[in-house]
Amino acid sequence: MKQHSRIVAFMVLASFASIAGQTFQMDQKAYVPFDASTTVALECPDSAAAPWLESHLKEWYGDYAPKVAAGVTGLAAEGDEGYAANVDASGVKIKANALAGVKWASYTLRQLAIAKRGTMKTDGMILPTLSITDSPHLAFRAVHLCWFPETRPQQIERAIRLAALLKFNYAIVEPWGTYKSEKHPWRCWPNAPMTKAETSRLVALGKDLGITLIPQINCYGHASFSRGGGSLKHSALDMHPEYAPLFEPSGWNWCLSNPETQRVLRELIAEMHENFGNPPFFHIGCDEAEPQTCPECTKTPNVELVCRHIAGLSEFVKSRGARAMIWHDMFLDKKDPRWKDFVKNGNAEYVEGLATLPKDIIICDWQYSYGNMKGKREEWPTISFFAEKGFSVAGCPWMNYNAMKPMADYIVKTPGGFGFIETTWHRLRGKEWRLMYMRAADAAWGSSVSHDVSFQRSLRMVDGDMKVKDYLDTGYYNTQIPSEYSGD
Ligand SMILES: [Zn+2]
Repeated sequence: MKQHSRIVAFMVLASFASIAGQTFQMDQKAYVPFDASTTVALECPDSAAAPWLESHLKEWYGDYAPKVAAGVTGLAAEGDEGYAANVDASGVKIKANALAGVKWASYTLRQLAIAKRGTMKTDGMILPTLSITDSPHLAFRAVHLCWFPETRPQQIERAIRLAALLKFNYAIVEPWGTYKSEKHPWRCWPNAPMTKAETSRLVALGKDLGITLIPQINCYGHASFSRGGGSLKHSALDMHPEYAPLFEPSGWNWCLSNPETQRVLRELIAEMHENFGNPPFFHIGCDEAEPQTCPECTKTPNVELVCRHIAGLSEFVKSRGARAMIWHDMFLDKKDPRWKDFVKNGNAEYVEGLATLPKDIIICDWQYSYGNMKGKREEWPTISFFAEKGFSVAGCPWMNYNAMKPMADYIVKTPGGFGFIETTWHRLRGKEWRLMYMRAADAAWGSSVSHDVSFQRSLRMVDGDMKVKDYLDTGYYNTQIPSEYSGD
């Protein structure tokens, strides 16, 4: 168990997303140079660590970048992602067992460094004296990012970079008709921005920053690759009605009795998985589906058709060396009184069908506290339900900020608790973006609540790294007058 954080001196920036701190001591009055006169003493047995740190210090600080002196001692405990950082009059020291821990340590120092005082232009940085020993609360810490046709591509890169800076280690990227498949070009909107080259660039960027990108394709419901409600848009059928046999008549679900559906989805999965660098996970969606309605699908019990479909795709993902992830909601019975205040869209037959699914599937249990979005729920029985059925389970909050910390704590203590996925949907903007990222990062690292200033400073670092030139790509709204944020 971790000891409580010990904060010797608190400054306005002391509370940062994703610093948990078995020990966390800082003195805001005693700063030391962090510039070209500094040599960071790095102790890490990973030979990739020193070159990575050196090149990134150079990228962030240019001519006044500190130098790096490498040793191989490492850290006694804390795993691959843990780190220790010490700053005092004798210098700056980082210890970690692997490059991952060095990355997190360097982000912490970067967030705490400020420009040296007394000049017009920056002439070096300074760091408060501090002592931090830290490691993540959860091994799997993800954000879920939706790439809508309306999303500025720059926003996706900002979201990936910021997630890494806040020490998330995975980002699930769900294109909403925006992935330009070369195998099946009819499956996306015209001028889809997520080209093969752009995807490879973002995947490589994420890898360098410490965040692995996971692809997603909705393989059951949401087959329109559009939102429900009133949009009625379909990224395939609106412009390519000739592909109608692949979908149920309404277009919302894929037609699961058509063998061509499984073939097309496997080809799409293979293409995206390879484009993403063959990561260890692939999200196949499966939320908010409707009962199948076509004359062929209705010949087979719905649950049998669906489970066979999901099992086939998950076996295919497994054959590629990865694990499939699915949303949970079709596998909770909406009539079950235990789930009164929880998200559920299934029935008793689906619950029985769970037993037929391969157990290496990761269930992504999205629970948004719809009854009370401000509630602080301590118990998460749906997570236990799936874990007891033999699945790994990821807890997935959204804007239920107060529930994030207890949900993360519940996952840690639950056998089968796999990780934490912060979903963002169409709210990757405005104060919601800020709160989702900050509170989720705090929960995933077991930190106390961070100060919002750290979000602003971190976002500005991202924009500096991207060298943004457009007013629309600064801050967390596109524009300030009028705000484009409508509340929905
Ligand atoms: Zn059908």
